[in-house]
Parts: sequence; C-alpha cells; structure tokens
Amino acid sequence: MVNKKNYICCKNHGYKKIYSSHDYEWRICEKCDLIYLLSHSKRLDKVKEVQFNEFEEPQENAKLEFISLLKILKRYSNCSNLTFLDFGCADGSYLKIAEKHFKKVQGVEPNIFLKKKALNKKLDILDDKFLVNKGPYYDVIFTRNVFEYVDCFSDSLNKLISKLNDNGYFIWRDKFYDYFPKDYSNIDSSDGFNSFPTKNAIKYHLSINQIEILKSRFYFDKSFLIIGQKKINQKKVYKKRTNINTIFYNNYFACKIIFYLTGKIQNIYLFLRKFKSYFIN
Ligand SMILES: [Zn+2]
Repeated sequence: MVNKKNYICCKNHGYKKIYSSHDYEWRICEKCDLIYLLSHSKRLDKVKEVQFNEFEEPQENAKLEFISLLKILKRYSNCSNLTFLDFGCADGSYLKIAEKHFKKVQGVEPNIFLKKKALNKKLDILDDKFLVNKGPYYDVIFTRNVFEYVDCFSDSLNKLISKLNDNGYFIWRDKFYDYFPKDYSNIDSSDGFNSFPTKNAIKYHLSINQIEILKSRFYFDKSFLIIGQKKINQKKVYKKRTNINTIFYNNYFACKIIFYLTGKIQNIYLFLRKFKSYFIN
C-alpha cells in the first residue's frame, strides 16, 4: 500500500491545503486540480467503512442508462468479439446485461455483501488484488461511481487503464466536483470519499494515460460520461483550464451558492429537454 502520508497526486508537483485538522487534511493538486483527502484518524476510517457498507445495487433507470451506453459504444465497435470488465461491479447487474453483448465479461467488487450477490448470479468476479496484479487485459473497461472511494486516484486510474488493450474502450460514468459545497471543517458523509475528481483532473489523467476522448458529457447534476479509446501513440497532454471554482473550495457558502445555481440550470435543462422531446414526438 502507498503510504498515505506521502500521497501526492501528480508526481513532482505541489498542492494547496484546502483544510487541515487533527483528523484529516484536504488538498488540491496544483497540477491537475484533483481534490484529495489524507486521513490521520481511526474515526475517519470508521466513516469510510460505514459509507462503504451502504452501497446499493443499481436501480432500474441506471440499468436502462447502461443499455443506452452500450448502444453508443456499438457506434464505434461491434462488441461481440470484445472482452469486458466492470470495475466496481456491485451486485453484477451491469455484467448480467453485458453478458449478452460481449465475448467475455468479468467484474471486480471489494464490498463483500455485493460481491456475494454477484457470485450468486454465476458471474466471474476477480480477486480484490486485481489492480496490483499483472493482467488480465480487456477490450472494454467500464466503471461507474467508483473513483471517489478509491485510494490514490492517480495511481489507481493508471493501474486500471494499464489493463486496457491498445485501442480498447474506457467507459467512465461518475461524478465530478467542480462545484461541490463541502464544509471541510466538519466530518460529513462525503468524508468517506478519498478524492473529488474535478473536470480538469479527469481530463488530465485520461490524457496522461493515453486515453483519447471520443465522447464526453459533463452534466449540471455533477455527473459525467466519458467514452475514450486507448491510443498508445497519443502524446497530447490535456492543458488545465482555469477553474474559477478553485477559489471557492475553502469557502463553503460561495460553493453552496454556485451549487444552488447549477442545480437550477440543471432543472431548466431537464425542462427544455422534455419540452423538445414533446414537440419532436
Ligand atoms: Zn494531480
């Protein structure tokens, strides 16, 4: 395991302290804008443990969304000859769907309760040491709402993508934290997270791992979708955009106002989408 005390996001780059207390410290990486946590206490580990055990199985609409993701992927490749990994596969709901579309599907799930459920569905669930093991390699890697819980974001993402074959596809559905109203001075449920990936951090780390982004959507509800492809000869490194929100990360109230406004924009966006589909149909 990486010594958390020495954990830095991007090697040879500094960080800015957002908040520090006896128990923990939040930092933002100066290179990529990743916000990450260093924990010094058992109390915080307990928060993490409780949160980790509260994982739920995917809901119906999440399954429908997964099916539509596969449809998008099929624009790029006929999947029937490809191998598929669900990193953080929960109870195996997505793997069950994926089985019908891919040559071979496997999953990884650290939560014992969910892993058992997946195994009961006769799915192939790999060892928890998956990330540190050499191989196996896949044509498609899918991950959904996992990376905020993962230790050492940059290192884990690198290890995961190293398991992707050349020209393989990386499908990443997750949350980003460009406007997250967090009161760092109190321990709250989000302290179960090890990192808050921002837009910049996501795009930067994909680029240094040679993932070319084919499709990306960042929604106002904090979620995002990226479909990328591993291109070994890709040398282009994403250049960080100015993120004005970084000014507010240690200002809970300013963050809350931004979050409130983006929430409103999300509602308008959803309304317009409904409005549009009403007239098109
Ligand atoms: Zn970084």
